Amino acid sequence: MLPIHEQFYTFQGEGAHAGRAAYFIRTFGCPVHCPWCDSAGTWHPDYIPKHINRLSIETLVDEVAKTKAEITVITGGEPAIHDLTKLVDALHGIGQKAHLETSGAFTIKGDLDWVTLSPKRWKLPLAENIALADEFKIIVDRVEALDEYSQMLSDLGANPTIPVWLHPEWSQHSNQALLDAITEWIKSHGAPYRAGWQMHKNYAADLKDARSAPAAPLGGDPTQGY
Ligand code: SF4
Repeated sequence: MLPIHEQFYTFQGEGAHAGRAAYFIRTFGCPVHCPWCDSAGTWHPDYIPKHINRLSIETLVDEVAKTKAEITVITGGEPAIHDLTKLVDALHGIGQKAHLETSGAFTIKGDLDWVTLSPKRWKLPLAENIALADEFKIIVDRVEALDEYSQMLSDLGANPTIPVWLHPEWSQHSNQALLDAITEWIKSHGAPYRAGWQMHKNYAADLKDARSAPAAPLGGDPTQGY
């Protein structure tokens, strides 16, 4: 059984697999507490639902099997606080690739096919997880975050050939100065940096599945934690 905040069928809106039909399983719980978290319903006391569903692996995988999803994305919250081994094995059993989106701050349990690691300054990634990453996703909440996270990945021994996506933190996606800083960073550094976007938000793709939970974006001061 896993505590599940929501599950829904949509497309992957970010990263190297953007645009592919994807089933999303969002687990409940996150100890990282980013002040601009866009999934605050998984942890913030002001947003968590009264009832948290605990679902069996079989129930989750049965729902995935009803779709034409190419991949199943296990996200959160912070999914790595849970043992994902049985879920990943069951997904493989129905021919699904299992992708993980994680802060990297907790030991990853499960034979994942793809790991997107999005480091957060409030709880740093484990070096062992840096080595597992297939792509990195930096949430650029202020211009200085470009230097900060680039240095962090280097200090943690990240493979310099692994793509590093630079995403504007969503509450600032119209902040031209921040967008310009990302553009200039990519132009001046080249690989492995790539401009990122949360494409599914423009499409409102997740909302087409009525089971998706209402968005609970905190916004907030990135210099502060909760
Ligand atoms: S953005 Fe991710 S890591 Fe940060 S608090 Fe939200 S769920 Fe946790």
